[in-house]
Amino acid sequence: MTKQSEVLENPKYIPVLDHGFVGLVNHMGDDHAVVQAARVSYGDGTKSIRQDRGLIRYLMRHRHTSPFEMCEVKLHIKLPIFVMRQWIRHRTASINETSGRYSVMSDEFYIPELEQIKPQSSNNKQGRGGDIDPEYAKTVRELITSQSEDAYRAYTVLLGNDKNDTTIHGDFPGIARELARMVLPVNYYTEVYWKQNLHNLFHLIKLRLDTHAQWEIRQFAQAVYDIIKPLFPACVEAFDDYVMEASSFSKQEKQLLLSIFESNNITADLFRGNKSQYSAEFGISESEIDELISKLWK
Ligand SMILES: Cc1cc2nc3c(=O)[nH]c(=O)nc-3n(C[C@H](O)[C@H](O)[C@H](O)COP(=O)(O)OP(=O)(O)OC[C@H]3O[C@@H](n4cnc5c(N)ncnc54)[C@H](O)[C@@H]3O)c2cc1C
Repeated sequence: MTKQSEVLENPKYIPVLDHGFVGLVNHMGDDHAVVQAARVSYGDGTKSIRQDRGLIRYLMRHRHTSPFEMCEVKLHIKLPIFVMRQWIRHRTASINETSGRYSVMSDEFYIPELEQIKPQSSNNKQGRGGDIDPEYAKTVRELITSQSEDAYRAYTVLLGNDKNDTTIHGDFPGIARELARMVLPVNYYTEVYWKQNLHNLFHLIKLRLDTHAQWEIRQFAQAVYDIIKPLFPACVEAFDDYVMEASSFSKQEKQLLLSIFESNNITADLFRGNKSQYSAEFGISESEIDELISKLWK
């Protein structure tokens, strides 16, 4: 398995957690590839970089997603098995993972930093929250470390590699790697090649950078996001504006907002009358203000 220290000098890699990383193997396409594909449906109209950016923003805004599928990113990721269990739920990738049947598993396991060791959250059944006495946190780290080391020792014994161990007596020949690995806990690291198109990668980033996602997987999602930003700057900017930082409202939430607007004389005409001012102030086109009006008052 690749060591984190082996990739630290490589500018295409970002270290994550204590032994993990995300690295860019290669990619296909760029902002222009998205525009080029979209032109098949929209004709030859857009030419300048500014117009290209506008088209990308239009596609993202209107969830015209297939042009973003024209770009692909191949990543090399090393992550704890419990994070991989979550990561692999994203079914729209092409994947090749290291084989614990073929190779001896690495002895590297994840130990959370002290500040990440927290009690069960009282208001979120799927998360951590609040603080724990730092002395307890240190003990937790020690317990996780000793348990993980013991598990690896048992793995080594099962493989038949530790002849001095007294757990199994006699001339024990060892068992197959595919069986011995069963004793390793899910904080052990695994390694994967992960190829996904930009549309599906955006979907993964949106879900796994969310504050509801586990802190550890968020660190990997952030590294992927940092890697793709310079590769597809206009697409990422549009994704940030229209997906990551955007919100949608339920029917009832919208009714509530409209009722408050109405009681404060905030009307569709107010937006229409101030289009150029709002456009300059908030950096959006006047047609986006028309879209906002129709979203609220349709
Ligand atoms: C915060 C968080 C908590 C979670 N908790 C749990 C949990 O407790 N238990 C659990 O099991 N999972 C959990 N998940 C995993 C989650 O349910 C999804 O499986 C995972 O996020 C992948 O999302 P996806 O299916 O949209 O992505 P992908 O698998 O990449 O699919 C992308 C899109 O393709 C379409 N698609 C793909 N396959 C199918 C299909 N077979 N049928 C229909 N449409 C398909 C869907 O539109 C889907 O959105 C959690 C995820 C998050 C982010």
